Amino acid sequence: MSSLTVKNLKKSFGSTQVLKGIDLSIEAGQFLTLVGPSGCGKSTLLNIIAGLETPSTGEVWIGDRNVNRLGPKDRDIAMVFQNYALYPNMNVRKNISFGLEMRKVPKGEQDRIIDRVARMLQIEPLLDRKPAQLSGGQRQRVAMGRALARDPKLFLFDEPLSNLDAKLRVNMRAEIKELHQRLGTTIVYVTHDQIEAMTLGDRIAVLHNGEVQQFGSPSDIYENPANRFVAGFIGSPS
Ligand code: ADP
Ligand code: MG
Repeated sequence: MSSLTVKNLKKSFGSTQVLKGIDLSIEAGQFLTLVGPSGCGKSTLLNIIAGLETPSTGEVWIGDRNVNRLGPKDRDIAMVFQNYALYPNMNVRKNISFGLEMRKVPKGEQDRIIDRVARMLQIEPLLDRKPAQLSGGQRQRVAMGRALARDPKLFLFDEPLSNLDAKLRVNMRAEIKELHQRLGTTIVYVTHDQIEAMTLGDRIAVLHNGEVQQFGSPSDIYENPANRFVAGFIGSPS
C-alpha cells in the first residue's frame, strides 16, 4: 500500500477552471473521503489521480513515484465506479479473473485469488451466476472483488453506492469500512454524501469552488469547520 500526495493540481476545461490548486496528502493505509456538492470537481480530481485525465498543471505522487507521465495501467491502482460495469456475458468468477488473465497471472494463482476475494466479500455462492442474476448490492460486491483481486497500491472509489437503495447503502458502507480496517488499504473515496464521508474517512477533504475548503479528520471538521461553506454543508441533512 502507498501514500498519496497531490501537489498544486489545476485543471481547466476550455475557459472554465474546475480545480484551482489542490494540495492533499495521506499516509499509506489511510482512508480519504473527497466530499462536496455535485459538479465541484470530485470526479475530475479522482480521474487525474487515476491517470484517466491529465492535469493542466500540478503533480500526483503514489508512494515515492511521481506518476504524472504514467498511464492508468502503470499506476498500480484499482477503481470502482458508480456504474460498476460488469461484463454481462461472463459469470462472476470470470468477471473477477478476466483482468488477471489479461496480465498473464498463472491459472492456479488466479484460482487462489478468486477464492480469497470471494471469501472476503462473501460472494462464494454467486461465482457461477451472470451479472443479470445478481441484486444491485451483489453486483457492487463483485465490482469490489474485481478491484481487490488486483492487490493495488491505491483504491479509488467514485460514488460506488449512489445507485443503491438507502438500507443497502448503509450496509455496504459498513462493509467497506470493515474491509479497510481488515486490509489496511489506502483508499480515496468520492461522495456527495456528507454522512458517508464523515463515517468512512480517516481524513476528509471538503471540495467547493475548485478548492479544498478544509482537510482534516472527521472530528476536526465537525468541531471546527473552517468556514461557512463547510459548516453549512457538513451540517445539512443528506
Ligand atoms: P463532481 O464529480 O464533483 O460532480 P465533476 O468533476 O464531474 O464534478 O465535474 C466538475 C465540473 O467540470 C462540472 O462543471 C463538469 O461539467 C465539468 N467537466 C467535467 N468533465 C468535463 C469534460 N470532459 N469537459 C468539459 N467539462 C467537464
Ligand atoms: Mg462525480
